[in-house]
Amino acid sequence: VDIALDNARQTPQRTAIYLQGQDESHQRELMLIRDLPEALHNGQFYAVYQPKIDLASQQCSSAEALIRWQHPKLGLIAPDEFIRLAEHSGNISLISDWMLQQVIAQTAKWWQQGLRLQIAVNLSVHDLLNPALADNINAQLQQYKLSAAALALEVTESAIMQDAATVIAQLQRIRGLGITLAIDDFGTGQSSLAYLKQLPVHELKIDRAFIKDIDHNSNDALIVAATTQLAHSLGFVVTAEGLENQAGLAKLQQCGCDKVQGYYFSRPLQADAFATWLQHYTSNHPHWLNAQTVK
Ligand code: C2E
Ligand code: MG
Ligand code: MG
Ligand code: MG
Repeated sequence: VDIALDNARQTPQRTAIYLQGQDESHQRELMLIRDLPEALHNGQFYAVYQPKIDLASQQCSSAEALIRWQHPKLGLIAPDEFIRLAEHSGNISLISDWMLQQVIAQTAKWWQQGLRLQIAVNLSVHDLLNPALADNINAQLQQYKLSAAALALEVTESAIMQDAATVIAQLQRIRGLGITLAIDDFGTGQSSLAYLKQLPVHELKIDRAFIKDIDHNSNDALIVAATTQLAHSLGFVVTAEGLENQAGLAKLQQCGCDKVQGYYFSRPLQADAFATWLQHYTSNHPHWLNAQTVK
């Protein structure tokens, strides 16, 4: 702060504002890192769920869980900000453990109500390097009497590349439990589809960067179509992330994508709102209701 004030006196205003801005964002980062562990226990975090739609059947039988932090002083904080900080400060396992527990508990409730949803949780590389991860997840599934088929895990290519041998061994253990594995943000990393074929994963999620303009960008449409075709021939299910409009939906159907996720169908919603959305969506798709709702 002192440096910023000194500069404000001696240098042009723009520099002073810049330095002050730097200082504020640094303060904010320190505050978030400091507050994170306690915030988890104080109910400041919650999970939201975004539906994934199966294009062939138009059914919704899966969703992605995403974390939110309602900070008492700073307001709602996006995971793009605090996940990175948690990774760097060694707190990411606290977040992942909390999220897995929340999602498994909530998904078990839904299954008890007859909603056999598969919910995906995002993991970081740090989680994947923890030798106890598979056993921990398995123990929680047992505790909540939840089928492994109800859980999916998403990892990015870059997380895998940090220590491919260790991560692949871990993914194999997790897959062995019957949990679905997905590569997140596909297309933004370094690896090729040929390399991904060696990974024990079921699904590729094509990054929003290729989807958001697909209704008017023919290059994006070509990339998504070619990626989907190759991914299918290698045995992957393909999900498109970040669909926002109907014109894009038609393109994704032409490209042959299996599943779609995005604001066009729904923003991520808290559990109760998600269940309400699902009921509404399902009532427009009675076939899905008959097939999926048991009891
Ligand atoms: P992601 O896993 O790729 O999640 C998809 C992101 O895209 C989410 O942002 C979602 O809200 C957003 N999204 C979905 N559809 C649309 C759309 O149509 N338009 C736009 N503009 N955005 C859309 P969110 O929730 O802010 O999460 C950002 C990233 O933070 C996630 O990207 C994931 O990498 C990370 N993240 C979120 N929750 C967790 C978590 O519990 N654990 C870990 N390790 N990472 C998480
Ligand atoms: Mg994800
Ligand atoms: Mg993604
Ligand atoms: Mg992402």
